[in-house]
Amino acid sequence: MKRLSVLPTFAVLCTLTAPLQAQTPQPPVTLLQNVRIFDGSGSALSAPSQVLVRGKRIERIVPASAALDRPAGATLIDGGGRTLMPGLIDMHWHTMLVRPAHAELLTIDVGYLNLLAGAEATATLMRGFTTVRDMGGPAFALKRAIDDGTLAGPRIYPSGATISVTSGHGDFRLPFELPRTIGAPQSRGEQVGAAMIADSPDEVRVRVREQLLQGATQIKLTAGGGVASPNSPLDATTFTEAELRAAVEAAENWGTYVTVHAYTPVSIRRAIAAGVRNIEHGHLMDEGSARLMAEKGIWLSMQPFPDELGDSFRPGSVERAKFMQVFDGTDMTYKLARKYGIKTAFGTDILFSAALAQRHGAVLAKLTRWYTPAEALAMATGINAQLLALSGLRNPYPGPLGVVAEGALADLLLVDGNPLEDIRLIEDPGRNFVVIMKDGKVYKNTLAKAP
Ligand SMILES: [Zn+2]
Repeated sequence: MKRLSVLPTFAVLCTLTAPLQAQTPQPPVTLLQNVRIFDGSGSALSAPSQVLVRGKRIERIVPASAALDRPAGATLIDGGGRTLMPGLIDMHWHTMLVRPAHAELLTIDVGYLNLLAGAEATATLMRGFTTVRDMGGPAFALKRAIDDGTLAGPRIYPSGATISVTSGHGDFRLPFELPRTIGAPQSRGEQVGAAMIADSPDEVRVRVREQLLQGATQIKLTAGGGVASPNSPLDATTFTEAELRAAVEAAENWGTYVTVHAYTPVSIRRAIAAGVRNIEHGHLMDEGSARLMAEKGIWLSMQPFPDELGDSFRPGSVERAKFMQVFDGTDMTYKLARKYGIKTAFGTDILFSAALAQRHGAVLAKLTRWYTPAEALAMATGINAQLLALSGLRNPYPGPLGVVAEGALADLLLVDGNPLEDIRLIEDPGRNFVVIMKDGKVYKNTLAKAP
């Protein structure tokens, strides 16, 4: 009897919910008219076009002359012949570490650090960077808050904590914290999830799996010395091949990949031998390591560091000398990347300075020392998105990104001018990006204010 009584109840529920469903809000629809499209590849703008965005995706792209009914309730944006392009992607970003000063990091209140990062995330989006790949830092909570709409910011592909060896790039412990003993409390950097220390294949596996558990979309290790860490010489090679291979195995078992911070040919070669798919920086590579990267299809994720970054290191300091060595290697590495046809992504690695973050687009524009404006913009959109796709099923935002195409996720910028002719337009996003859309939602539209 009891079971039978369920049926009428269910029927009543259905009748009750039907009108409620009818009231469910429709996904937002935006029609962009009279735009010329840079689609994330190629070297020319399209003829004047119309782009219909429904919900999170681009639904239709048709010539401006084609008949396209404006759907009821659609927001209309008259592009006036301006350029529509994909939102920018930064493949080497540290969402948690952009604003705090380097010296502040070891003592900073984590609550304050999160609030700084939240404000910076909104600023990042308003500079036209709609996606970032986080290359180390406790960014999981920020990503969640952006995805659930708590605050405005870019899509984040988090790595979680950078994994380093004792003495490596990422080991910021002070001398009194040594030696590390089993069972002792973790260092400050480990407690906040900024950088984890691992000194054997087994420890590497634990650290990698901890990041994957928290939602890492790829894993980041430091395979060699770095600039900003006082205890790691630039020439040092850190993880053994077996340790790197343990990381690769754990990441691949989870369906994703490992990328490593590496400047020198030795650290690049060792990482490739261990199965690493992506090299960060690479500024000191040589002909042999460049050729190897090309042959194996290894991605290079690199940046032309801004000139003024050197000023953040004290004159005469070891860090400044290391920076200059890396800085001087930039030209040769981009030439090698071109010569051998290495798959090259773009990321800025802007750290520890809100002022420097204002130069976000300028770092991208600097690529035109080695690439055409179209090549530079393709790198920061369509090509970067190809590297993001290596996260496979761990990709939190499946669907084409970095392109303007039917079916792609609607991350779009409307630029007042043609960036293929004048790439410096992207250096002043406040003035020149008149519409910024992410995931189909309009975050900025200065055209709407026009009478
Ligand atoms: Zn970095």
